[in-house]
Amino acid sequence: MSIEMKSGATVMEIAGRSIGGDHFAVIAGPCTVESRDQVLASADALLAAGATMFRGGAYKPRTSPHSFQGLGQEGLRLLQEAKDRTGMPVVTELMDVRDVEAVCEVADVIQVGARNMQNYTLLSEIGRSGTPALLKRGLASTLEELVMAAEYILKEGNERVLLCERGIRTYEPAYRFTLDLMAVPVLKEMTHLPVIVDPSHAAGRRDLVPAMSLAAAAAGADGLIVEVHPDPDEAICDGPQQLRLEDFPAYLEQVERVAQVAGKQLSAAAV
Ligand code: PEP
Ligand code: MN
Repeated sequence: MSIEMKSGATVMEIAGRSIGGDHFAVIAGPCTVESRDQVLASADALLAAGATMFRGGAYKPRTSPHSFQGLGQEGLRLLQEAKDRTGMPVVTELMDVRDVEAVCEVADVIQVGARNMQNYTLLSEIGRSGTPALLKRGLASTLEELVMAAEYILKEGNERVLLCERGIRTYEPAYRFTLDLMAVPVLKEMTHLPVIVDPSHAAGRRDLVPAMSLAAAAAGADGLIVEVHPDPDEAICDGPQQLRLEDFPAYLEQVERVAQVAGKQLSAAAV
């Protein structure tokens, strides 16, 4: 059974890891897959630190069409290598229905980016694929719209959907997006689905990520998806917001402590 209701809270089983209820998941990894060394060094260190799953994009939704768009098939191959080597479940983005089969071959969780939250054809296809999904809230989407987008996946019989608050656009220019942490308890009222938070894309700045992660855990989130890079200063994209790999173990320890206060245990990858 992949979904279990425990005293009103949903516990999802994904690739041997539990998310939801009293299980807290930390999905960590670089913004994008850049090279074999970068991916394997990240996956090894994140496994050792106790992260729950590994993230990395092979297909990247970039604001400018002139920016790096991801390594594509080669990126998926490198993610597969990291998975074979570490056993960590992989979370990676699907942008185009034409890539669904290739992405499903490696992905334990398909990420739907904020810009594709209302791409209904893509959502239905992910629903039919049966692969669990991580659905990010659109930049200017209401919670109702997010829940309706999730319904497109659920409607096809795929019940394993994680909702993700990643910051919304407001009039405040001091940071990239405004992290709407009230979305966490309110989404939990609206649905039975686990709710996770992405502090990296909301902040756009590494220094804000630890505090927002702890706040998310305190707000009752079921997990985090956070960007971590072995050398963020040289990262191809989102360098300024990615945590340094060497800082991750101390970061995770703090997150784990606050999650415990909120009644949750870190769901670590089985070493
Ligand atoms: C990402 O996770 O790398 C990403 C592009 O996120 P978002 O869709 O939330 O901007
Ligand atoms: Mn990114």
